[in-house]
Amino acid sequence: MHIPQVTTEVSKKMARLRAGIVGAGIAGASCAGTLATAGWDVEVFDKAQGAGGRMSTRRTEQGWAALGTPFISAKREPFRSQLRDWVRQGWLAPLRSEVLHGRANQSWSLVQLQNHYRLTSEPSQLVHQLLGDAKLHTQARVATLQPRTLIMEDGQVFGDYDCVICSVPTPQAIPLLDALPLLRERLDEVRYRPIWSFLMRWEGGPAADVIQFDDHLLNLAVRQTSDGPGLWVVHSSHEFAETYLDVSIEEASTRAASALMGLLGLPWPVEVEVSHLWRYAKPETSIGGFWLGDRENRVALIGDGIAGAGVERAWESGVRLAQALIQAREELVI
Ligand SMILES: Cc1cc2nc3c(=O)[nH]c(=O)nc-3n(C[C@H](O)[C@H](O)[C@H](O)COP(=O)(O)OP(=O)(O)OC[C@H]3O[C@@H](n4cnc5c(N)ncnc54)[C@H](O)[C@@H]3O)c2cc1C
Repeated sequence: MHIPQVTTEVSKKMARLRAGIVGAGIAGASCAGTLATAGWDVEVFDKAQGAGGRMSTRRTEQGWAALGTPFISAKREPFRSQLRDWVRQGWLAPLRSEVLHGRANQSWSLVQLQNHYRLTSEPSQLVHQLLGDAKLHTQARVATLQPRTLIMEDGQVFGDYDCVICSVPTPQAIPLLDALPLLRERLDEVRYRPIWSFLMRWEGGPAADVIQFDDHLLNLAVRQTSDGPGLWVVHSSHEFAETYLDVSIEEASTRAASALMGLLGLPWPVEVEVSHLWRYAKPETSIGGFWLGDRENRVALIGDGIAGAGVERAWESGVRLAQALIQAREELVI
């Protein structure tokens, strides 16, 4: 039977394209959601228990605490519009409180952080809602990327994708890329720096919501409003985390608590409830551009190690790759 050409074109147009994405941080989620909205069939795999990556949340008895990124800011469009939307939807609020800035035994000053937003709802939930209709597999660690294919740590194979997208910090992508040397060799250029983050409880101290330390050990303390006045997240400097990269949680916590008490002149005790080492907190260098692609093998890399440090660049790398894939499909079909 003769099948007219137009039917083939229509069926090509109707066939749902498929993407497999490793990593449900903001880059992977924004890519997944944009593709899913355009009709792609998208599966996202994350080794953690939920979405969020470095925007994930710790549950506390009274609420939640953000141990990862404390603020979001936008330097340009299209992220500025996205932030305005999130403010309208109630996810974010402009950071209005002044930031106490200074170091021990010196005068403290109040500074205003311009154009910074604070999450008013759980950051991990915001990332989760970006996924839209994409299917999220949690506690699903990907071990190997191959052309159009993902192989899980337990040997399960997910294949036949039109595009495989890897959205993890580049040092964590390198071991997945043995079969894709063209991509792998570019990633050696990227360096990440660590941060230790602590959920601490103390009473007294300065009447501020954000304290920025001018200090070589600690960087920032942010009051957690969802859990009463005494709960703070304290982020170390990169130097502190590099010095105490391989110590026990107890040692890192004790050192951070005593540094904090010295800086703020607090009496004992500072209670450390949770400690987390972000081994790959922020990239010091990046590849540049929004994504790195191996067109022949249908694999692309996104995230802040490719596009540059921060939530804005990570989000944009996911959205821009998705838009390019959607457009490529339209050109292919029409
Ligand atoms: C303490 C801290 C403070 C920060 N402060 C700021 C700030 O003030 N402003 C700002 O803009 N940015 C800040 N950042 C950086 C910002 O959080 C990141 O740039 C951004 O969240 C990166 O998103 P991503 O999607 O690229 O990566 P990630 O959020 O790291 O997502 C990667 C995901 O991949 C998963 N994964 C990794 N390997 C595998 C595997 N083999 N299989 C399956 N899943 C895997 C991980 O579980 C993770 O969920 C901060 C980061 C930290 C840690």
